[in-house]
Amino acid sequence: MSEVPVVEAIDLARHYDVRQGLFAGTDTLKALRGTSFSLPAGRTLAVVGESGCGKSTLARLVTLIERPTSGMLRLDGMDAGAAGKSLLRELRKKVQIVFQDPYGSLNPRQKVGTILEEPLAINTTMSAKDRAAAARAMMARVGLRPEFYDRYPHMFSGGQRQRIAIARALMLRPKLIVLDEPVSALDVSIQAQVLNLLVDLQEEFNLTYLFISHDLSVVRHFADEVMVMYLGRAVEQGPREAIFGSPRHPYTRALLSSTPIADPERRGERIKLVGELPSPINPPSGCAFHPRCAYTNERCRQAFPETVPAGGRLVACHGVEEGRIASSG
Ligand code: SF4
Repeated sequence: MSEVPVVEAIDLARHYDVRQGLFAGTDTLKALRGTSFSLPAGRTLAVVGESGCGKSTLARLVTLIERPTSGMLRLDGMDAGAAGKSLLRELRKKVQIVFQDPYGSLNPRQKVGTILEEPLAINTTMSAKDRAAAARAMMARVGLRPEFYDRYPHMFSGGQRQRIAIARALMLRPKLIVLDEPVSALDVSIQAQVLNLLVDLQEEFNLTYLFISHDLSVVRHFADEVMVMYLGRAVEQGPREAIFGSPRHPYTRALLSSTPIADPERRGERIKLVGELPSPINPPSGCAFHPRCAYTNERCRQAFPETVPAGGRLVACHGVEEGRIASSG
């Protein structure tokens, strides 16, 4: 296993200038407010949270679609923020993305063979014959029949289309794949097949996954590490067993309590989240979760909680730090 993390983020932030109205001034939307993590080869980090928590922004930064406003992003040991055009081109080959909607991400006018060969045609000097052979080999690897080579995306089911998208992501042999809700548009029976394929491919190619999901029952089976995000910030992160076995942050507890669990003995009391996710343009003072938290005190309303180690994970919560919120495991 490589010593250098495949992806490393240090205090990564992304802000956007937004206009609230025709005659209004400009506000700053803080979509990502300082996120740090490090992920070695062959591991999976799941990023979870409500819609608007910053997970899609994080995906856009890691896939180099956008640049961070501040902070450091290293890919395969190289500083992506400081990279010039030619290094960026190299780094983009190391990172690929699979989107939630496989139909939207595949060109409907291209046949499967062309879709898979395109990354090779653009980024390598391989001959047409070699590109076709590589595409056919990858199709076999992801469970697509050889005759599909000449068919168009609309001729496939959702699961098959996601296999095509995965095959295309693998054509340049990336080190990191961002999986942006990769199975949430699929039927439950198909979800398991696609997830099993991703697990097999990870083992075979030593892939690193950044798995963006709102579905905690999928994350529970798929992730090595979990990062829970709230309003652009990681509030709890650590090994899957620690997060699912004894969540510490009140937001993580609320999220997990709303996840269906088949085993009735492991079902706990459901913690209802009150109120809406606040606006990232004008987030609450102190701890951004304080208007919705049952453990809020004056310090929570005033002071920003730093991220500290607690019980084998990192947590940003005054209540955990002060011992007011004990382990639930
Ligand atoms: Fe709740 Fe305070 Fe912890 Fe925020 S810092 S989650 S308000 S206890």
